[in-house]
Amino acid sequence: MPLCPCQVSPKLAFLTAPIAYSDCCQSYHEGISKAETAERLMRTRYSAFVLVKPEYIVKTTLPAQQSLLDMKAIEKWAKETNWAGLEIVEHTSKLGKRHAQVEFKAYYHEVDSSGEALKEKQQAHHERSTFVKVDENWYFLDPTVTINVTQKQPCICGSGEKFKRCCGMYL
Ligand code: ZN
Ligand code: ZN
Repeated sequence: MPLCPCQVSPKLAFLTAPIAYSDCCQSYHEGISKAETAERLMRTRYSAFVLVKPEYIVKTTLPAQQSLLDMKAIEKWAKETNWAGLEIVEHTSKLGKRHAQVEFKAYYHEVDSSGEALKEKQQAHHERSTFVKVDENWYFLDPTVTINVTQKQPCICGSGEKFKRCCGMYL
């Protein structure tokens, strides 16, 4: 039973109850379960990067941003990264009416010119991601995707609020 990628953390050398992929992120990747919290969505997205499932990365990004994502580039980056684990630093489960944030470290190993992982060279992407809940579904708000919307226009998430009072605060 392979361990779920999201359960691997360099900070937890010993896991008392390691969770198998089939009991963790698999049902989310297959569309059977939907993420109950932003942290769960974050974990399943990390696992999707490790397992190279770019379609899941796109599907869990805000619908208004999905067509602007480059699925091939996501796939390439996921494949070329030598992932080494995930650490959730902080989960702010409620931020205003419909947002949440997850601060995390996604670890990876640097690779040498031949593509061999340098195990002693562990690096981390340390980020704080924002998520929005729309119609009972959590979505990742991608700050790298530019959408043409003015501050006074209705928000791209479909909440009906002005952009500046909604997702605009985090993009
Ligand atoms: Zn998992
Ligand atoms: Zn919004």
